[in-house]
Amino acid sequence: MLGPGARGGVDLGGTKILAVVVDADHTILGEARHDTPTKGGPKAVAAEIVTAVRQAAEAAGGEPSELEGIGVGSPGAVDTAKGTVANARNLPDWIKPFPLASTLEQELGPPVLIGNDVGVAVDAEAALGAGAGAASFIALWWGTGIGGAFVIDGKRWLGRGAAGEIGHTVIKLGGRRCSCGRRGCVEAYAGRAALEARARRLHADGADTNLLEIMKKRGRDRMTSGVWERALHEGDHLAGQLIDEAVQAIGGGLASEINFLDAEAIVVGGGLGTRLADPYVERIRDAMIPHLFVPERPPRVLPAGLGDLSGAMGAALLAAHAVKAAG
Ligand SMILES: [Zn+2]
Repeated sequence: MLGPGARGGVDLGGTKILAVVVDADHTILGEARHDTPTKGGPKAVAAEIVTAVRQAAEAAGGEPSELEGIGVGSPGAVDTAKGTVANARNLPDWIKPFPLASTLEQELGPPVLIGNDVGVAVDAEAALGAGAGAASFIALWWGTGIGGAFVIDGKRWLGRGAAGEIGHTVIKLGGRRCSCGRRGCVEAYAGRAALEARARRLHADGADTNLLEIMKKRGRDRMTSGVWERALHEGDHLAGQLIDEAVQAIGGGLASEINFLDAEAIVVGGGLGTRLADPYVERIRDAMIPHLFVPERPPRVLPAGLGDLSGAMGAALLAAHAVKAAG
C-alpha cells in the first residue's frame, strides 16, 4: 500500500524512460528504467511508460491506481492543457500531436499531467536540488540539444513562452550550422547530436577515434552520453578535442547570460551534463571566467543536485501541483 500523497513521475528521454514513485515528502519509494523504443511510434512509447510506472509502483510496494497523480516530462511540443505531445524528434515517428495523457490515464488510472522535460527538471532543481536556496540561477541542460532556463525566487522566467533557449545563444557570427537552421549557436558546437555528427564526419575524413567502436560494442546506434564518457576515460584524442570545444562554447555562452542577468549560480544538468559532471562542470566554469564582465565575482557553477533523477522528480512535482490545483 502506498501512503497518501504518493505520486508518479516519468522522465521521457530519447534514449531512456525513467519512472519514479515518491511519497508526499518527495522521497523516492521506487524507480524503474527502460530503454525508449526506437520504433512503433507514440503507442509503443506510451506502452513502455505504462510498464515502467507499474514497475516503479511495485518497487514502492503498491500499484499505479493508488497514486494521486502522475507527471510526465516530455521532449517535443507539449500542450499541457490538452495533454498532447507533438514534434518529438528524438522519439520514433512522433510528429503529429499524440494524446499521451489520456492514453496513460486509460491504462494506469490516476490523472496524468504532461510538462516540458527541461522545464520540470529545472523546477525540481529549484525546489529540491542544487538551485534550492539560490535567489536566482541559470540552468543549462547539456544533452542531445542544449536547453536551459532562468529561475528567479524559485520560479522559472517564461518570457512569452520561449525563454531559456541558452543553446541558441550565438557565439560565432556565421559559424557552424545549428539544428535550429541558424548559424553559430552554442548548440552547434556543444549539443550531443552536433558532437556526434562532427565526430562521424571527422572519422570519415580519416581522424582516429574509438567513439564508433565503443558505440557498436554497447549495441548503440547513437553516441550516447555513456559512449562519450567511455571514450574520454580511454583518452580518445578526438573525443577529448570535441568535448573541449563544447566546454569552451558553453563557457562563452554562459558568460554572456551572466553578464546580462548576474545570476547567483549556474546548475548544469542534462544527459551529458550529469554523466560527465565533475571535472567538466569545473571546466565550464573556467571556460566562462575569461568572458565575464565582473570576473572577480563569478557565479557558483554546480552539477544538478538530483543527478539524472531531476527530470523524473520534476515530473512528480508537476503531478503534486496538479493535485493541489484540482483540490
Ligand atoms: Zn541554434
